[in-house]
Amino acid sequence: MEIQDGRFHVQGVDALALAEQFGTPLYVYDADKIKAQFDRLTAAFSGANVRIKYASKSLTNISILKLLKSYGSELDCVSINEVRLGLKAGFKPQEILYTPNGVSLDEIKEAVNEGVVINVDNISILEQFGNEYHNSVPVCIRINPHIMAGGNKKISTGHADSKFGISVYQLSHVVRVVKTYNINVVGLHMHTGSDILDAEVFLRGAEILYDAAKDFDNLEFVDFGSGFKVAYKEGDITTDIEELGKKLTASFKDFCKRYGRELEMWFEPGKFLVSESGYFLTKTNVVKTTPATVFVGVNSGLNHLIRPMMYDAYHEIFNVSNPTGTTRVYTVVGYICETDTFGLDRKLSEVNEGDILAFKNAGAYAFSMASNYNSRFRPAEVLIYKGEPHLIRQREEFDDLIRNQIEIEI
Ligand SMILES: *Cc1c(COP(=O)(O)O)cnc(C)c1O
Repeated sequence: MEIQDGRFHVQGVDALALAEQFGTPLYVYDADKIKAQFDRLTAAFSGANVRIKYASKSLTNISILKLLKSYGSELDCVSINEVRLGLKAGFKPQEILYTPNGVSLDEIKEAVNEGVVINVDNISILEQFGNEYHNSVPVCIRINPHIMAGGNKKISTGHADSKFGISVYQLSHVVRVVKTYNINVVGLHMHTGSDILDAEVFLRGAEILYDAAKDFDNLEFVDFGSGFKVAYKEGDITTDIEELGKKLTASFKDFCKRYGRELEMWFEPGKFLVSESGYFLTKTNVVKTTPATVFVGVNSGLNHLIRPMMYDAYHEIFNVSNPTGTTRVYTVVGYICETDTFGLDRKLSEVNEGDILAFKNAGAYAFSMASNYNSRFRPAEVLIYKGEPHLIRQREEFDDLIRNQIEIEI
């Protein structure tokens, strides 16, 4: 969202007009920003045969999936329903990687029947898979390289006590299972978490995968997962994609030479592609002065944007209605009946009741983690595409809350 003539806009579409037209709370996504991030990523890795598999769990709206497909993205899915959404959005089965954690063989069989690429995350499933399919269905193996990425343990997946992937120390067991059942392993995968700060962590993980690759003759790709960090506030350190691109591409080319074949290099970014495209527009219900602080209460809560309460995430907030006013210090809170803080001690242009406040970085893990807690409706979503706003999800209504509930005689 940029400021022009004292007004915030996305691709020239006025943010206050959006709030007026579609109501609040409202998620707004900027297609141009998604495109810019996609292009930046593909450019950084253009030295290799790269495939970008958008991690659909970060923002799963079907129009966003179609948008990313139109830019040349493929898809990473973590549930069978994400697979179905991806297919419905027009992705070909072979463009979809299915990377579940802790699902039963039944769900994996459903994914096999859809024809998507299967990523196996534990030895028990690998054995069941081998027993069922032998070498008739190709498979990718998720390896946990035990490198620690990022600060928040809830979103780090590569550390020693993480539930994700097969420990690299169990590789010889994996190889025995693969040989015994004659399993066709076509890919190796790692995903170490959502907060990778420097290229070195990635490169260390890569070396571990290259080393593991020696045990598999049929590889077609190596999937380096994601974890690219974007800025949430000014001064945040972010992943230097261009530097990573250079270093990783060089090491990958060396590896391919040693391996004896050109392999594909895969990534599964979610946050990097969509986080900064999103803005969450809310309306100020109340400005409440207490002895300790001034609270701004907005018409939303952790039911719509849970990241601040769940991950201590920082989302920058700004006053769309009063972009250039005198600043004051506020604590911005939601309307949910428990502690529900969006931002503590934030400097905002003076806020009046009725003002529209926008939250930045509202593209990834924002709407997709929204719930109906407190029996509130989930918000509408709007995509700004080619300079025009498109409603891509209706705001829920009372019928949506009651639809699956069954009233018994009491
Ligand atoms: C969540 C997830 C991603 C995306 O992570 P980001 O930090 O959003 O880029 C990629 N791969 C897998 C397997 C995931 O579970």
